[in-house]
Amino acid sequence: MVRDPSQPTGAEPTSPAPTGAEPTSAEPTSPASTSADPARGQAAERPRRPSLSPSRAADFKTCPLLFRFRTIDRLPEQPTADQARGTLVHAVLERLFDLPAADRTPERAAELVAPEWERLRAANAELAGLFSPDAAAPAMPPAGEAPAGAPPKGATAAEFLASATDLLAGYFTMEDPRRLEPAERETLIEATIGDELLIRGYVDRLDISPAGDMRVVDYKTGGAPREAFEARALFQLKFYALVLWRIHGVVPRVLRLLYLRDAEVCDYTPDLDELLRFERTLLALWQAIERATQTGDFRPKPSRLCGWCAHQAHCPEFGGSPPPYPAIALAPGVPAPAGED
Ligand code: SF4
Repeated sequence: MVRDPSQPTGAEPTSPAPTGAEPTSAEPTSPASTSADPARGQAAERPRRPSLSPSRAADFKTCPLLFRFRTIDRLPEQPTADQARGTLVHAVLERLFDLPAADRTPERAAELVAPEWERLRAANAELAGLFSPDAAAPAMPPAGEAPAGAPPKGATAAEFLASATDLLAGYFTMEDPRRLEPAERETLIEATIGDELLIRGYVDRLDISPAGDMRVVDYKTGGAPREAFEARALFQLKFYALVLWRIHGVVPRVLRLLYLRDAEVCDYTPDLDELLRFERTLLALWQAIERATQTGDFRPKPSRLCGWCAHQAHCPEFGGSPPPYPAIALAPGVPAPAGED
């Protein structure tokens, strides 16, 4: 599955995992589970009961109609080169930690770029059609919005791979992966809240210190203006923090965003009261999703993020018409779908 485009920044290198005071803890009140999942997004992983991922929850908050297009109509979206690059960089960073610690160097990371791209292309038809070896990129960011280090509009596959390598170089200015041993990478985590809602998503990386402190790490690689997506990024990390608290009964010590383009680290420390409020917010959001699903009333909510929406042709705000609402979505007893992250 192709990731959402994300954005930017960077600062302080990191060592093992966070240390310091004991994290806040409390008893989880509902069942939860974790599972490593290299084949994220496969049909077999789909839950059979109400569930919500951070991406789809954020979609509904951003624009209910966008949620409908992606989750109920499941309209196809051709990944942009920017999204494909994010997928590739995430894959390389995951693979990097398979190497012995001493080998986790910028040079070895650069060597992983081309083979990982070939592996992703072979596994994902959407990516396979994005570039031919000498073809121009069909879907670069709008003019004037290409990120620093991104291939120019109309770039070749070679330039695309070079831009991914540049982003990885940004990563090494923030962290020294030779000093890190992540507890989890690209891992599906899930928990139940409100008795029946399964909240689930994939964390890029989870570090756990010898003292048991958890640090959730998310890599941001996109080229869109950071301020347009920062609230969404924080929402995503709080979502993961809530899941982890429900699983382990421990509030993660740090939520960390690594903005590779700008080489900037953004750390956030959640507390239990905040996560409990966030849980109530998610349950209210879920009720709103269920109401909309039962009525078919998903309204457009135009914002500057419309510039990144792949469904303007179907959106009334842009003169389009949504496809007929699927009858199955209106059937009684059919749980509102939430999709994968
Ligand atoms: S174009 Fe904007 S208003 Fe329309 S569906 Fe997309 S995000 Fe929503």
